[in-house]
Amino acid sequence: MITNSDRQASPLHLSLIEKLNRLHPDTTPMLSFRNPFELLVAVILSAQCTDAKVNEVTPVLFRAFPDPASLGAASLPVVERIIYSTGFYHEKALHIIATAALIHSTYADEVPMGMEELTALPGVGRKTANVVRGQVAGLPGIIVDTHFKRVTRRLGMTEETEPLKIERDLLSWVPETLQYPFSMSANRHGRAYCHARNPRCGECPVQKLCPSG
Ligand code: SF4
Repeated sequence: MITNSDRQASPLHLSLIEKLNRLHPDTTPMLSFRNPFELLVAVILSAQCTDAKVNEVTPVLFRAFPDPASLGAASLPVVERIIYSTGFYHEKALHIIATAALIHSTYADEVPMGMEELTALPGVGRKTANVVRGQVAGLPGIIVDTHFKRVTRRLGMTEETEPLKIERDLLSWVPETLQYPFSMSANRHGRAYCHARNPRCGECPVQKLCPSG
């Protein structure tokens, strides 16, 4: 279990978080979804895949299988064909079918919001669980994806490199109310300015506060 430690938040880092949250106020994931079940499946499919590609696939998937019961009973080859272009299609198809079946049979078609329940579902790690918990239930959590990792490291907010350690590090000092909004704003900042290659430091609104800018 990840718990908070006593690391103090620095005024600089809190100021950076507030600026990023003001700059990128939309906290909705860039994946298309109409309900918590669709969000959960879309996040599972987004592993090693762009959101745009997932957004092409999910309307087809949910037209064929609109709820946990139907997706949980779906044929593996049919689901594999639909989600093929998202990559790792065999593993992802197994995961979303098994997860849908469990949500139907164990949780009466409601996506659970507990971290332990969510991460016990096939294909659901802490990142996926934190996205769903934050978006659906407004629960605090730090969502470490490739953009978040790059941005927080460049901003000097963590020296860790492993996602779990980055999550633990940031959880220890980012106030709970800011955790989910900051996860999303850092993600959007990474996409908009702080690119992996050739970051747009000259145009970046937080450049003056950034040790890497
Ligand atoms: S100044 Fe450059 S390195 Fe720093 S956050 Fe902005 S884009 Fe990223």
